[in-house]
Amino acid sequence: MTKKISDILKQKKRTFSFEFFPPKTKKGKDSLFKTIEGLMKFNPDFFSVTYGAGGAKKELTMNIVDQIQRTFGTPTIHHLTCIGHSVDELKSIIEQMRGKQIRNVLALYGDIPEGIKSKEPSDSLSYCFQLCQLLRSYDDYFSVGVAGFPEGHVDAPNKETDLKYLKIKLDSGGQFVITQFFFSNADYFDYLKRAKELGIQKRIIPGIFPITDYKKLLKISRDCGATVTENVRKVFEPITDKREKTYREGINFALKQCRQLLAQGVGGLHFFTFNKLEPTREILDKLFKTIRD
Ligand SMILES: Cc1cc2nc3c(=O)[nH]c(=O)nc-3n(C[C@H](O)[C@H](O)[C@H](O)COP(=O)(O)OP(=O)(O)OC[C@H]3O[C@@H](n4cnc5c(N)ncnc54)[C@H](O)[C@@H]3O)c2cc1C
Repeated sequence: MTKKISDILKQKKRTFSFEFFPPKTKKGKDSLFKTIEGLMKFNPDFFSVTYGAGGAKKELTMNIVDQIQRTFGTPTIHHLTCIGHSVDELKSIIEQMRGKQIRNVLALYGDIPEGIKSKEPSDSLSYCFQLCQLLRSYDDYFSVGVAGFPEGHVDAPNKETDLKYLKIKLDSGGQFVITQFFFSNADYFDYLKRAKELGIQKRIIPGIFPITDYKKLLKISRDCGATVTENVRKVFEPITDKREKTYREGINFALKQCRQLLAQGVGGLHFFTFNKLEPTREILDKLFKTIRD
């Protein structure tokens, strides 16, 4: 039986986990499996696979989660979005997950796909907390995680309201949080402090984004509302078009960020890998060396 993340979090004070997107081709899948093979030496606690809210091939996520779990035996979170689905469709997807022993879900509202104006069927869920409630109504079969935004969600009126919405998600059945990436650890620790003050006691795992391409980072950050901090700009702007230098500085930056987070006792690190083994492997090799020393 697949382990639930909520049980893993009860047993371990700190987890290491990795996010992938579902590949569309056989070549992409082979390459992802090589990445996972390379990450297995770090004894990952869990993986997660994103869900293309807009794409037609939503079943890709379920198939790859199933294959990863059967091949590597590591619990793998299926991201699932409200957007683009009626409640009946969501129920059908949830039943299919049960059939494949997919017991871990990251409940999300979802990114509104480009070019789509009318964002959802009329009988779909309006907020992620409703998906948490739906998933938790299945006799405790699923462990449910939710997204958190240390800088506040891009559409939230302010940080306080954003955190109140997070609490609603957790009170509705969310059991842990994986955050959006951030480059200021101070923002993350401030988020933890404010969450605690609001009575949130569940684990908030920081999302780590190793920088390999500065222009791509600027675009992704713009879309999701994450701040590219002054210290990131200072390092990466002058070397924007120098791939190798950017890559090396990306490793240095992530390593420093992770070391500081671990030194302050974070409950885990969740790496956004973009399906690539490097630079995550190099960062972890160096990080584990310091942890062991
Ligand atoms: C770790 C991580 C993984 C992600 N993976 C994916 C993925 O696989 N696929 C994908 O499409 N997207 C993914 N996203 C992006 C996410 O779907 C978007 O950021 C989305 O806009 C917000 O989703 P949510 O689950 O936080 O939704 P919600 O919590 O429902 O929030 C959506 C909006 O509604 C507002 N809101 C929330 N609750 C309430 C309430 N009770 N009353 C009024 N307003 C409210 C919020 O302020 C926000 O503006 C991911 C994000 C993170 C951090």
